[in-house]
Amino acid sequence: MRSRLSHLECAACGRTLNADALQTLCPECGLVLFARYDMASLRRAHRDELSARKGRMWRWFEALPVLDPNCVVSLGEGATPLLHAERIGERIGAPRLFTKDESGNPTGSFKARGLSVAVSKAKELGARSLTIPTAGNAGGALAAYAARAGIPADVFMPIDAPITMRREAAYYGARLHLVEGSIADAGQAARKAAGETGAFDVSTLKEPYRVEGKKTMGIELAEQFGWELPDAVVYPTGGGTGIVGMWKAFEEMEALGWIGAKRPKMIVVQAEGCAPIVRAYEEGEPRADAWENPQTNAPGLRVPSAVGDFLILNAVRESGGCAVAVSEEAIAEAEQAMGRYEGVCAAPEGAAALAGYLQLTDNGVIERRESVVVFNTGSGLKIPERLK
Ligand SMILES: *Cc1c(COP(=O)(O)O)cnc(C)c1O
Repeated sequence: MRSRLSHLECAACGRTLNADALQTLCPECGLVLFARYDMASLRRAHRDELSARKGRMWRWFEALPVLDPNCVVSLGEGATPLLHAERIGERIGAPRLFTKDESGNPTGSFKARGLSVAVSKAKELGARSLTIPTAGNAGGALAAYAARAGIPADVFMPIDAPITMRREAAYYGARLHLVEGSIADAGQAARKAAGETGAFDVSTLKEPYRVEGKKTMGIELAEQFGWELPDAVVYPTGGGTGIVGMWKAFEEMEALGWIGAKRPKMIVVQAEGCAPIVRAYEEGEPRADAWENPQTNAPGLRVPSAVGDFLILNAVRESGGCAVAVSEEAIAEAEQAMGRYEGVCAAPEGAAALAGYLQLTDNGVIERRESVVVFNTGSGLKIPERLK
């Protein structure tokens, strides 16, 4: 097994950098760095051989950025089920509705994928301590992987984050810092701490490797659909690594000849009380202004501004997708439907995605006969007070 990582490249200005040191944003323009691979060499790692390997997310080692297999920090993330949402589909006349259920990941959300890769790479590059701002799930995931790597971690979380998420980060031995406000305020505190202590900041899309873990959701989707892609992917979007990672996966897989040119419509779902990407999409803007006073009960969607906003909007527009906001009532209803009809314990964010899908089929923006994957990004068990 040999990773084909070759260098880092700024997704905005195109500047290239060596990938041999800890790196956050582009030193030139301050935007997002992507890992790039030697595609000619990666073509020789055969799709079906990687797919047939034992293991889960790390089956795709060659297309991931860790060079030394001994540095991989894993808790068994990825390879989550694609479930046919047959009973919800039947109720609305949609025979090809699916959910990609990320709730079974270590620490109960898809955040495990990104942090497994980010912590592995940080370990390989010699990070002494790690820090993260989080709405909740990313903090638990960082804490768990950092514990496994033996690297100290500082987690900055809003003071009103769900209690289970606060306790989880502390349980795994991270230093938990509770911050007034939203993840944006937690981000300021984390940056300040990183400046003082030299800790490496693994904020969403501010370091290049979390998105590589999220990329594996796109690879698995193609794999599970027989190396084609569905007509649409509906994703609950906060910082955007999920959408951006999958979009990157599709581009790389096409370049490798793993899939054809067909892309799903990428559909962003946000909450009405915090919908910066939806607003920018509707106004035709390339970037999104920060959302004032973000309010929603879906913690992962309470993200007022995203450094990768231009990448999210780009994926939505290039794919012919769209961005929609859903109400808290619609989220709560969809949350119940996921449990009652599908046996899936939906995180409120996953429920928001289903609510967004239902809204778009009602409006005729998505047709009921289309094959659609709604992502349940995490487990509802992490906010047990919502289960009713
Ligand atoms: C973080 C999170 C999201 C938002 O994901 P992004 O990829 O950062 O947009 C959605 N759902 C859950 C459960 C999350 O923890």
